[in-house]
Amino acid sequence: MSTATPQKYEFQAEIKQLLDIVIHSLYTEKEIFIRELVSNASDALEKLRHTQITEQDILDGDLELEVNVTTDDKAKTITIQDYGIGMTRDELIENLGTIAHSGSKAFLKALSEGGAKNSNLIGQFGVGFYSAFMVADSVKVYSSSWKKDEKGHVWTSDGSGSYEIEESTDDRRGTKIVVQLKEDCGDYAQDSTVKSILERYSAFVSFPINLNAKRINTVQALWLRSKNEIKDEEYTEFYKFQSHAYDEPRLRLHFSADAPLSINALLFVPKDNTEKMGFSRLEPAVSLYCRKVMIDAKPKDLLPEWLRFLKGVVDSEDLPLNISRETMQDKALIDKLNKVITKRFLKFLEEQAKNHTDAYNEFYGEFGIFLKEGAAMDFAHKDQIIKLLRFESSLTEKGKTTSLADYVTRMGSEQKEIYYLVGPNRASIESGPYLEGFKARNLEVLFCYEAVDEYVMNNVREFDGKKLTGADHSDVKLSDLDQPEGALSKKEVETLTKWLKESLGDRVNEVKASDRLVDSPALALNADAFMSPHMRRMMKAMNKGGEETPLKVNLEINPRAALMKRVYDLHTAEPAKAGLVAGQILDNALISAGLLEDATPMVQRLYKLLETV
Ligand code: ADP
Ligand code: MG
Repeated sequence: MSTATPQKYEFQAEIKQLLDIVIHSLYTEKEIFIRELVSNASDALEKLRHTQITEQDILDGDLELEVNVTTDDKAKTITIQDYGIGMTRDELIENLGTIAHSGSKAFLKALSEGGAKNSNLIGQFGVGFYSAFMVADSVKVYSSSWKKDEKGHVWTSDGSGSYEIEESTDDRRGTKIVVQLKEDCGDYAQDSTVKSILERYSAFVSFPINLNAKRINTVQALWLRSKNEIKDEEYTEFYKFQSHAYDEPRLRLHFSADAPLSINALLFVPKDNTEKMGFSRLEPAVSLYCRKVMIDAKPKDLLPEWLRFLKGVVDSEDLPLNISRETMQDKALIDKLNKVITKRFLKFLEEQAKNHTDAYNEFYGEFGIFLKEGAAMDFAHKDQIIKLLRFESSLTEKGKTTSLADYVTRMGSEQKEIYYLVGPNRASIESGPYLEGFKARNLEVLFCYEAVDEYVMNNVREFDGKKLTGADHSDVKLSDLDQPEGALSKKEVETLTKWLKESLGDRVNEVKASDRLVDSPALALNADAFMSPHMRRMMKAMNKGGEETPLKVNLEINPRAALMKRVYDLHTAEPAKAGLVAGQILDNALISAGLLEDATPMVQRLYKLLETV
């Protein structure tokens, strides 16, 4: 049926409900209506391209496949026009007046599930065409189908329950949507405002988008092209454009997957870790796209927290297939994406570590801290991440690192645990008293220089069935060493340790002979087995001014050290002097452990000792 006079129609009940919500929403990101209308225009062009393959007889066959956006700030209008497939009169009724199509249907479903309270819903769903009514007093849709024998029509509505259709003299193929903006939405008739919105959401749409006759989208959706056609410079240019970056990317991963989800992803690791440089915590920066249209620039759950240093794009067609383009709500789907991408990126790092070791180590030096965070916090990926950690050790040269897997290959058959020591740098760990007992037994010790390492090691707990153990934890058991000549006998050790405990009183929890000392006379261990000296230092630093738990240490003495022999002799011959020496030995051990909290008594004692010289 076709008439020349305007015909009035009621919207379907569901559409009325939808429009009511859209119009009365106070949703702040109203700008997404532009994304929705441009996406529809692009879809219509895509459909035309498909139709051209099979149909010869197409109206205006030589029109450009492009989208033109024009603004008129005096008239307060924005117009989105395409030479796409167009709509017949019946299609206008069907597509714009009923709820048959996907996006809006999913929106209503979510609403009925209690989402009405969530004002974000519109932004997430987009609600397609109807989102125009967030900003419009009225919307006019001029459309002409590609079919030559159809007439052009104009569809008009103010969104309040009904719409009109009449024949139009404007009968070029495609669709032109004129949005008459509400008084307070005049901004969307400003060239500069619309430009930034188009650049944000529609920068990679495949058809040319012109705003007031100026081309907007010049960079291609590189992630959808085949890897071997793309030059390095193109990747770099894309990275700079998409991430608003000035550096060159350090690493990139371009991949696609079909199962369990269709994914095209292009991920970049930047050159520098800006968090390390002291800048603020990074925000997620891998944007989520569906068929080249941006859904979310900073999706929170697309990747785990510790991958927040990544930039780039993830595009999944399954987003609309499953529900709709805008159903970011669908947590399960995002979780699935998260899993696939994280796994793939970890595999990529493994390959890098194996095949491009130098580049990997450089990456690790800059971004390793994020991997440590992942190893400690991301239970799902922990096992994979641990393999990527690197440490210097007592067996590596300075500046060279080892993986835990390599450490394990060097372990002797009796060694059951993986040992590590935390300290500010190599020199301080090597000169401390904790390492020598391990060295004497050919036990490798990993060196950890970062404040978080202790925490990471405690959380990771084990690798390959071997417990990660702090070499300065008080419960480490080491095998017996040969007793050299002149060492204190068992009996003498017993006497001496008992005397030391009495002499040092409350300052020590326990005194015993050490199996981990070779050269040093003594060492101090935190009495709490789970608190290494390093950890205590950290807790103290964090707890500035707060109440302090009194320090309780175990003193371990070296029966092989000449000094201990001397103290043994002294403790009966000159008990007073022996007492001073004992106090000093404890302080020295505390200093080595970084645990000496007040040096004043030590200075007094040293003067007394010097008097006896
Ligand atoms: P969706 O895009 O999810 O299908 P929309 O509400 O955005 O939902 O659009 C509804 C329908 O209107 C589309 O499916 C399409 O058939 C039709 N349509 C909208 N804009 C255009 C256009 N520019 N050209 C042709 N058809 C269009
Ligand atoms: Mg749409």
